[in-house]
Amino acid sequence: MKIIKGDKVIYKFVNEMKHIDRVSPKEKFLVETNDCFFQQVQDENMVLSELDYDCLNPATGPIFVEGCQAGDILKVKIHDIEVEDKGVTMTFPGEGVLGDQATKSKVRVLPIEDGQAIFNGIKIPIVPMIGVIGVAPNKEDGEWPTATPWKHGGNMDTTDIKAGSTLYFPVHQDGALLALGDCHAAMGDGEICFTGLEIPAKVTLEVDIIKNKTIKWPLVETKDATMVIASGDDVDQAIYEASSQGVKHLKDGLNFEWEDAYMLASLVMDLKISQVVDPKMTVRAAIPKDILSTEDLIMGIK
Ligand code: CA
Ligand code: ZN
Repeated sequence: MKIIKGDKVIYKFVNEMKHIDRVSPKEKFLVETNDCFFQQVQDENMVLSELDYDCLNPATGPIFVEGCQAGDILKVKIHDIEVEDKGVTMTFPGEGVLGDQATKSKVRVLPIEDGQAIFNGIKIPIVPMIGVIGVAPNKEDGEWPTATPWKHGGNMDTTDIKAGSTLYFPVHQDGALLALGDCHAAMGDGEICFTGLEIPAKVTLEVDIIKNKTIKWPLVETKDATMVIASGDDVDQAIYEASSQGVKHLKDGLNFEWEDAYMLASLVMDLKISQVVDPKMTVRAAIPKDILSTEDLIMGIK
């Protein structure tokens, strides 16, 4: 299996990027990812003012996918996320949902044993996820720092981006140019204090291409649902975008009138908060697969 090392990284997603490696559809490959601090935080006494803020959120890549072209959808199956044996979390004055109450910084380095992170004696079952994953954005959309989520993916910090899930991205450049990093061993929806359990990882992926179909926002397919992952300047805007695309997928996939799709969405589609602490907020709209299968949703895209 091909191994793509974590020493070649990007800090922004742009339309034109030089790839560092190539993979083929249906080939399994492993990507080594750095934690969001590029492993600068190793102990709890670290003085955070000494952090090099120029190397936050490194994403390994870009990876060129053979045969993938602008106007296609890139499908990324996550087979496995193997994390290291310790992760970092921290609070920082002014950061997160309760930034006004967060008056001093504190760093915790949590050991991971037998699939559990230990926090002050409490055992937290780990569910590794990928924080940052994306492709080259649309040229007109400009440059996107890896810290920001948008239509190309990026820092979506979505707990469902985990082993067993499949992502779908709109492709705007030959080879799609996939890059990823910022894995979390554990994170609650929202990521309220602005960190998950930040950790380096080895991610096993497999890609495929859906020709001549496009989507506005990334999708993540889990065991039970297909979710639109949308971002906005605030949660309301992200909710509007995720809902709008979710209803459109129901309308097109089921061949319904828009009004029927809207009412159906109100009955079966769950809105979930992904994160509320990055430069843009992220929400997902989950369409149950027993209402509309992922295949039919993709086939129905107009
Ligand atoms: Ca993140
Ligand atoms: Zn992170």
